[in-house]
Amino acid sequence: KAGFVNIIGNPNVGKSTLMNAFIGEKLSIITSKAQTTRHRILGIVNGEDFQVILSDTPGIIKPAYELQESMMDFVKSAFEDADVLIYMVEIGEKELKDEAFFKKITNSKIPVLLLLNKIDTSNQQQLEEQSELWQKKVPNAEFFPISATEGFNVQNVFNRIIELL
Ligand code: GDP
Ligand code: MG
Repeated sequence: KAGFVNIIGNPNVGKSTLMNAFIGEKLSIITSKAQTTRHRILGIVNGEDFQVILSDTPGIIKPAYELQESMMDFVKSAFEDADVLIYMVEIGEKELKDEAFFKKITNSKIPVLLLLNKIDTSNQQQLEEQSELWQKKVPNAEFFPISATEGFNVQNVFNRIIELL
């Protein structure tokens, strides 16, 4: 099994931390953040019977000028080539700032894993409210509350990725 996973989310939600957690556990290779023509390949996790290539999307930002807008178009088309999309949000976050991008996620034909990160910073009530909110917003996704720094649910998410390849 081999496949490509694209991790999408606002800046600072924990995308790189999650990638490091995946890679650290599997003792794999981190590429030198080289820009390829189509994807930023940031990590490769090699197992006995699988290979997962991980990339994260450059921070989702509102285009302020022409060049940025065309870059965003590139990002938006590139992410649909993935086998699995990870959409990451953090506790306390309200929404993805780019609405068109958000629509692509909610209409995605590719499996989407919705990760609510940093749950180590929340109390039970906040966790329940946020979980409900995000599952409503992205009904097509499989939902996982996680803590990338504490490693909570990280292995389960990884196992699910492998299943989906
Ligand atoms: P990225 O911009 O989405 O790649 O986010 P980073 O992975 O760089 O993380 C941004 C900040 O959030 C860093 O200071 C991380 O240590 C912190 N962070 C990431 N995951 C967690 C988590 O599960 N819990 C807490 N408390 N902090 C986290
Ligand atoms: Mg990052």
